[in-house]
Amino acid sequence: MKTAVYPGTFDPVHNGHIDIARRAADIFDRVIVAVYDLPQKTLLFNTQERVALVSTVLADVPNIEVESYSGLTADYCRRRGVNVIVRGLRVVSDFEREYQMSLTTRELAPEIDMVCLMTSLQYAFLSSTIVKEIASAGGSVSQFVPVPVEMALRVRLQQAV
Ligand code: ADP
Repeated sequence: MKTAVYPGTFDPVHNGHIDIARRAADIFDRVIVAVYDLPQKTLLFNTQERVALVSTVLADVPNIEVESYSGLTADYCRRRGVNVIVRGLRVVSDFEREYQMSLTTRELAPEIDMVCLMTSLQYAFLSSTIVKEIASAGGSVSQFVPVPVEMALRVRLQQAV
């Protein structure tokens, strides 16, 4: 059984992430969406909330699991006995970052390979940052995120006022 880990911050999960997770689930027998607990960026949603949102919006895909992890992604993959990491690519700057991360990971853990899936054209511009910026300026994000994420954003941003 071939398992892949799809790691990320998912703050919050959006349609571009969901597209990559679903396509990975068509390729691999099992995909673990791994929510990184403490990235070096300011978060809108805590780890538990991000895991809950990802779990909710991918609940219909039987071969996807969702959990959080800490520390190095390579160490997490080793703990889970997984040697494939899936990432999504939108623009050239993503490629540069993922390329560097892939080479670093292979330096640390030569048995781990990275598979990058190209974004679907309609999500090429989409990022969690864009979603948060639009939502916090009062705009609608309904075409970018599923309803549970839209509702969570509304509640969180109201709390922030
Ligand atoms: P990270 O902080 O690890 O980049 P993100 O949650 O921003 O976490 O993204 C997780 C993964 O999803 C990354 O590989 C990122 O390139 C990919 N991704 C983000 N947005 C999109 C999108 N619109 N289309 C395809 N892949 C995406």
